[in-house]
Amino acid sequence: MTAFPITHATTLKAPPPDASLKFGTVFTDHMFMMEYAAGRGWSNPRIEPYHALSLDPATCVLHYAQAVFDGLKAFRGTDGVIRIFRPDRHAARLNQSCERLCIPALDPALVEQSFHALVGLEQRWVPKLPGTALYIRPTVIATEPFLGVRPAESYLYYVILSPVGAYYPEGMNPVKILASERHVRALPGGLGAAKTAANYAASLFPAEEAHRLGYTQVLYLDGAEHRFLEEVGTMNIMMKIDGTVVTPPLAGSILAGVTRDSVLTLLKDWGIRVEERPIAIDEVIAAIASGRLEEMWGTGTAAVISPVGELGYKETRHVIRNGGIGALTQRLYDAIVGIQYGSAADPHGWARAVAPATVLA
Ligand SMILES: *Cc1c(COP(=O)(O)O)cnc(C)c1O
Repeated sequence: MTAFPITHATTLKAPPPDASLKFGTVFTDHMFMMEYAAGRGWSNPRIEPYHALSLDPATCVLHYAQAVFDGLKAFRGTDGVIRIFRPDRHAARLNQSCERLCIPALDPALVEQSFHALVGLEQRWVPKLPGTALYIRPTVIATEPFLGVRPAESYLYYVILSPVGAYYPEGMNPVKILASERHVRALPGGLGAAKTAANYAASLFPAEEAHRLGYTQVLYLDGAEHRFLEEVGTMNIMMKIDGTVVTPPLAGSILAGVTRDSVLTLLKDWGIRVEERPIAIDEVIAAIASGRLEEMWGTGTAAVISPVGELGYKETRHVIRNGGIGALTQRLYDAIVGIQYGSAADPHGWARAVAPATVLA
């Protein structure tokens, strides 16, 4: 593995107690950085003390949102080994997002090494309590101070780490989602398949409206007809109808979740029928009403699996399984969490151990 130059922080912070951790509020002592300049390419990968960025007010990312990010986690296993879940997939996706935003490609091997090197250095920040993790946030921003509308000529790649609490401190908890008849997350040909800041900006207003109505998140429907399921803002959506798991296809307007891919792979391993196909909201409502919809869940790095207990649509609240958790939902959660914490077999080699040489006792 490449050794990156490290400038060590002179004062180290005390990580907060594991039980007090929330999401994304606390950051570790160091960050990874690397810059791009036209004619020079990506250069000077290194680890520095965590610090604020100084940006010219004209920096183009602040005006036109030429920015991408990704999100993955490192886990402290029941055996003490620290493992990162599918870092290769996240590095590859970061590059796919870059391509859509006209950001010069990164070396995916270097991106993966940046995760390992930074987590290896910051391992005392990987929490121990079950369900906790060290969240890894790679980010790329356009840094050129320029107000014209064109791709920038300079960029910053950086990685920050944040210890995060258990998503379900008291066991899996079903969420309520609202299928939006009005708001759209992305359209075919738009930015929906990229993990980019602008998609999140677009999601804030509909999410606030859903919160006011007592829902946790918005289930987006397709932008053209408001008829077919897309995804849940930060999660992909799946359901089991008549024994078959169905999920919307990756047709350009939804994000290709790494958890989505992991779940579909496990389902195929287990011999469960899977269909990636357009799903009309009317079909879902009818399947709930007739009792043919057995389970519904969302998939994403934050929660892994989020059971859906209620689906709102056109002023009606459709309760699923009396708001309880289905057997397949639970099995998928347990299987992926087992792989993440090293307590279950990992036939696909998804959990990548942080090099033992860099792990302190
Ligand atoms: C990150 C994200 C997901 C989940 O992807 P994972 O790789 O499973 O974490 C789903 N939808 C959107 C819009 C996202 O940004």
